[in-house]
Amino acid sequence: MKDFLINLLGRDSVLDSAMQLAPYREDYSEAEPVDPAVVAMVSETAQVQAIVRQAGKVGTAITPRVAGTNVGGLAIASPGGVILDLSRMNRIHELNETDMYAVIEPGVTQQQMKDYLAEREVPLTLGFSLAPPHTSVFANALLGGLTNRSLKYGDQTQWISGLEIVLSDGSLARTGSWALEGALPFAQVPFPALAGLFVGWAGTTGIATRMAFQLWPKHRLNRRLFILTYSAHGTFESVRRLVRREFCDDIGGLSWPSAKMMLGVKHPHPEPSPGEPTFIVYVDLTADIDEEMALKERMLNDVLKGMRKEGEQIEEPLDIKMLLKVNPAMSPFAEFPTDLEFLTNHGGGGLSWVGTYGPLSRFEAGIEAGTEIMVRHKFAPMIVARPMRGGHYGVLRFVETFDKEDQADVERVKLVNAELLHMCSKLGFVMYKTPSWAWEKMKSSIDPGMLGLMRNVKQTLDPHGIFNPGKLGL
Ligand SMILES: Cc1cc2nc3c(=O)[nH]c(=O)nc-3n(C[C@H](O)[C@H](O)[C@H](O)COP(=O)(O)OP(=O)(O)OC[C@H]3O[C@@H](n4cnc5c(N)ncnc54)[C@H](O)[C@@H]3O)c2cc1C
Repeated sequence: MKDFLINLLGRDSVLDSAMQLAPYREDYSEAEPVDPAVVAMVSETAQVQAIVRQAGKVGTAITPRVAGTNVGGLAIASPGGVILDLSRMNRIHELNETDMYAVIEPGVTQQQMKDYLAEREVPLTLGFSLAPPHTSVFANALLGGLTNRSLKYGDQTQWISGLEIVLSDGSLARTGSWALEGALPFAQVPFPALAGLFVGWAGTTGIATRMAFQLWPKHRLNRRLFILTYSAHGTFESVRRLVRREFCDDIGGLSWPSAKMMLGVKHPHPEPSPGEPTFIVYVDLTADIDEEMALKERMLNDVLKGMRKEGEQIEEPLDIKMLLKVNPAMSPFAEFPTDLEFLTNHGGGGLSWVGTYGPLSRFEAGIEAGTEIMVRHKFAPMIVARPMRGGHYGVLRFVETFDKEDQADVERVKLVNAELLHMCSKLGFVMYKTPSWAWEKMKSSIDPGMLGLMRNVKQTLDPHGIFNPGKLGL
């Protein structure tokens, strides 16, 4: 395979020395490192097609990868396999401002897309995840990730209006309205939603090379407000009420230890100190005219006043711009995309989580049980919770940082994650961007019909078993 790749791509685009392979053998998480045989730096769809054809012939596994920030081992190679580095495929082919979509390649990053829109003064936004600026917009959508527009518009799988895929025989297919000659990629419907065969599959069914991706209006005014709350019920009942009023662009709850870490406390004590808040809730408001913003602020205060009347302790909202004056350490939370260095650059190198999607009605129960588990395992309970898609579901994520060089620390992470996953699954929360270890644990509780269907889809779309084998329990 190596000779084939060198022939196809040129020597400089095939990485094979130990030093070159080192960044690809692992990710932030505790997933076992695996050395790929080689890394192929592709820049054209035709190259991806040729590699898939050859891999099928010789039976070599291919793992697509962009930034490798998925925190679940999903872009780590199979032993002897090839990593297909798609970061050079970073063209923005089209921007349709009127119909609000862009056609992008896998390597387009959050920062690149933001700059592209800003340079052209396009009043649209893509929404940003809390992942580093160099992560792929495309991969996050393929994985069903969430951004600061997911409260309104749901996880990003729902924003994909067309997908171009390299299939196992090297041929290309397009899904959505795009499949009709001359039609714009405005939606997956009314054709059968075949993008679903590739979305949420972590590269195990094909390699996507282009995506039509919906963008959303960007408004002239925006405010990010922070509110301190003192009980799980006070926090999430406020969140549920705010969601129903439909005036917030984003709402997120960070447990107090997460906020402390953001403010520079390296190792917050797992147990809260008396009088500390439970959560810090941030609310994003946008508007086009001042009166609209003023009304939204009044609506926010009205909900909080109602909660206080019911006996909940909830502080007045504080504007991030004001907080920054008091503590510049808040700056990573002022503008997205951002580098949350307290998670990615803390010295030990390790970051892991059990990140789930589930119903808002069970947030309090999840937080109470998850806090108990994390404290018992001596982790400060770093928890992030955000409502999505108008409140129909939300994300609940339990986060740990750790020292990758310390085996005892790694084992502690595995133990706490296994317990958190068990608790979340029992409460009906489903882990997203699911790592292989979690699939193994979840398998016995997943509907056998669904698992059988997944196996059939995998077998049909990947008859040679070359697409990112070993992931999703397949
Ligand atoms: C600090 C931090 C904060 C984060 N916050 C968020 C957050 O707020 N919301 C969120 O959703 N995520 C978040 N993440 C998770 C992560 O950043 C996303 O999963 C990320 O978008 C993945 O992009 P990537 O470029 O790293 O993809 P990679 O990790 O390289 O790839 C992800 C998966 O997609 C597959 N893949 C990649 N390209 C293709 C392709 N073209 N065709 C088929 N399969 C492909 C890969 O094989 C792999 O399975 C965060 C991560 C970090 C480190």
